[in-house]
Amino acid sequence: MSDHDTSLRTPIVAVLGHVDHGKTSLLDKIRGSAVSDGEAGAITQHIGATAVPLETIADMAGDLVEVEDFDLPGLLFIDTPGHHSFSTLRSRGGALADIAILVVDVNDGFQPQTEEALDILQRTGTPFVVAANKADTTPGWNPVENSPIKPSYDGQSDVARQRLDENLYEIIGQLSDDGFSADLYWRVQNFQKNIGVVPCSALTGEGVPDVLAVLMGLSQRFMKAEMEIDVEGPGEGTVLEVKDEQGFGATLDVVVYDGTIKEGDQIVVGGVNDPIVTEIRALLQPQPNAEIRVENRFERVESVAAAAGVKIAAPDLDEAMAGAPVRVVRDRAVDDVIEEVKAELAEIEVDTEEEG
Ligand code: GDP
Repeated sequence: MSDHDTSLRTPIVAVLGHVDHGKTSLLDKIRGSAVSDGEAGAITQHIGATAVPLETIADMAGDLVEVEDFDLPGLLFIDTPGHHSFSTLRSRGGALADIAILVVDVNDGFQPQTEEALDILQRTGTPFVVAANKADTTPGWNPVENSPIKPSYDGQSDVARQRLDENLYEIIGQLSDDGFSADLYWRVQNFQKNIGVVPCSALTGEGVPDVLAVLMGLSQRFMKAEMEIDVEGPGEGTVLEVKDEQGFGATLDVVVYDGTIKEGDQIVVGGVNDPIVTEIRALLQPQPNAEIRVENRFERVESVAAAAGVKIAAPDLDEAMAGAPVRVVRDRAVDDVIEEVKAELAEIEVDTEEEG
């Protein structure tokens, strides 16, 4: 055993679903409500991700989430929605995201990209919740802003509730056709066997507390062991994007899923040709309350611990690749780390070929 402390990290959440079904709106709503409900600074905007602490989720979710029932610290949402980013973002061969929200427009039902997303979730064995979004567009719907869904649903007219039910059962049927046993989430006893469907609206916020509560519950019950990390260990992450930034040249937007990354660390990054070995010059986070002035967009941080999104500025990153692994070398042999990165890249390539 190592003499380092282990600690539970934040689960990484991805949002998937068909175009226009409301992925971006749902993320915006989660960010927006977290800001207005919690005390200032309750959510943290990372590079490429948003961290919502457990206390904020509990504030938003009312009776649905009691802080004492959880020991995971919250949720980290990847800001780029869509199953393309989900399937290309890996960690040690598995999916980078630990858990997912599959957004389905209640009126539009399953569409080609819903099926694709479901297929990927099934293949990667990723636990997920279905957000049956746009419930507010049900004719006759009487919105209750930011309410948990059950009181809002129970308060609708019979006609409105029946119309919504028809659409929800359509979605549950489609999930069943694809081999998933699913039900309205408040009827689900065992979330390992059954997929919870949460009627919600990214516009009015109804049901959004429930989506967060189910994600928190799924993580706590089925993923706690995987969330246990050596916080002090050498950082491991995945490149979301390679971006040129004024004054820094090519930089990496990275999600760190294990250990800690520090300024000055030597890292190995997957490149277009060979793995790149370089040294971190600066770790950058978005400046809170950033103005448009470019030079003030980022603030430097000394280190980040998983799970987090961060921008890495370092020499020689031009040939780094989105989706590639990043590993801190720390007290290991650099050649061993290069081999690890190569092996991981080879795995990603095989998968991409399989996807055709
Ligand atoms: P994405 O392509 O999945 O990211 O979808 P968007 O979040 O961009 O949403 C597509 C459109 O649907 C936008 O015009 C949104 O304003 C609208 N929309 C998203 N969620 C809801 C919702 O819950 N209710 C209503 N009425 N409109 C929504």
